Amino acid sequence: MHPSLPHQAAASYQTLPLGPLPDTRYPDPRIEVLDKRFRYKQGNAAIERIANGFRWAEGPVYVRAGRYFLWSDIPNNRMMRWLEEDGHVSVFRAPSNHSNGNTLDRQGRLITCEHSGRRVTRTEHDGTITVLMSSHAGKPLNGPNDVVVASDGAIWFTDPGYGIDGFYEGYKAEAELPRNVYRLDPATGQASVVADDFARPNGIAFSPDEKLLYIVDSGITHGGPAHIRVFDVDGTRLRNGRVFAEDFAPGLTDGLRCDIEGNVWCSMGSGDPKEDGVRCYAPDGTLIGKIHLPETCSNLCFGGLHRNRLFMTASTSVYALYLDVQGAQVP
Ligand code: MG
Repeated sequence: MHPSLPHQAAASYQTLPLGPLPDTRYPDPRIEVLDKRFRYKQGNAAIERIANGFRWAEGPVYVRAGRYFLWSDIPNNRMMRWLEEDGHVSVFRAPSNHSNGNTLDRQGRLITCEHSGRRVTRTEHDGTITVLMSSHAGKPLNGPNDVVVASDGAIWFTDPGYGIDGFYEGYKAEAELPRNVYRLDPATGQASVVADDFARPNGIAFSPDEKLLYIVDSGITHGGPAHIRVFDVDGTRLRNGRVFAEDFAPGLTDGLRCDIEGNVWCSMGSGDPKEDGVRCYAPDGTLIGKIHLPETCSNLCFGGLHRNRLFMTASTSVYALYLDVQGAQVP
């Protein structure tokens, strides 16, 4: 484990104009309908930039109880918070151990993946932080990336280890474990490997009925695939893994969420700038809609009191868009 270093002051935020993007008109032409099944465009709503001034925004989660939105600013080793009430942006946690993915458990507690902490943590209601898992088979995790909590409380997370690739998003180190996907029972502390054949497992989300689990492989960053796979959830195991969407190269997808109708919304970026943003796939794997952003998008989540606002972490900014659909899960 790398010794903890003092947190370094980072660039200020809100350095670019916030609010609707330039040349916005209703309906927003940046939302592209590719199939009539994509009926989620809110005619009189446009993409808004709600915060700016970060180095690599990731790990979005909306906290309904407090009406705030949290995300990670990984290279700056901090987590940020945006208040829905007045748009105020401030530091939520620094240092954050280069936090990445965030979600809430079924009690509303924050679950966080840490690159340089190389662990998954839970922030309790009293503010203390509990380490849920930092090793497997006696070896340190590579660096958890993204996480989802099932309705039975089990925590499913990916461990690709991007944080140990260098000193930008964590601290350089050798991987001691395969780049696995894990299921952790926080009640017992028991963890099992549920997938071990990913190049770089990344975003992870359940279908609304929890019968399916979608997992991104962003291995193209290291010569592997750029696709989403889907698995049948069989109790504590995964079965019948197959490719769900594979049309991302030379770019990649990173994070994803499902809506209540079972559509898969995923980030898109790092390839053709015209493709930067978000994609929406129907449950049968058909690409039915796109949201075009001016920056590479890393991840997204549904939020707002009615889960009908899409929050998108994208490079140096966070964007938001009201949609005519609701996210599948509270976080
Ligand atoms: Mg990720």
